[in-house]
This record gives sequence, structure tokens and C-alpha cells, in this order.
Amino acid sequence: MSAHEELRMHLTQALTRTTEPDVQAHLHAALESCQELPTTLVTCPACGAVGLPERIEVHNCRQG
Ligand SMILES: [Zn+2]
Repeated sequence: MSAHEELRMHLTQALTRTTEPDVQAHLHAALESCQELPTTLVTCPACGAVGLPERIEVHNCRQG
């Protein structure tokens, strides 16, 4: 399971466990934001590391 799928799973589970309208609204908003997250992996042009764009941006690049 990818981190993206895991995030959706946790949000969906949380939705089934609350009857608070405020909390449900926040969880629905989070699920919508989740759908807009990039799911395609990118490759670091310097070292060839593969991962999510936000991870590659901050990874420990072997090329310095
Ligand atoms: Zn790199």
C-alpha cells in the first residue's frame, strides 16, 4: 500500500468513527485534498533516486 493509499484509508476510517459534523467536514476536505496529491514518482536527475516529488525535493542526494 502506498503512503497515498494509506492516508486515504486512515481518513476514511476516521470518517466512519465520528458523528461530529465539524470533524466530518474536515475529513471530507482532507480526502478531497488527498485526491489532488501527485501520485506519480519522480527521479532525481543527479543521483537517480526515485520517490514522491516532495520526498525527492528534500532527499539526501548522493551528489551533494
Ligand atoms: Zn539525488
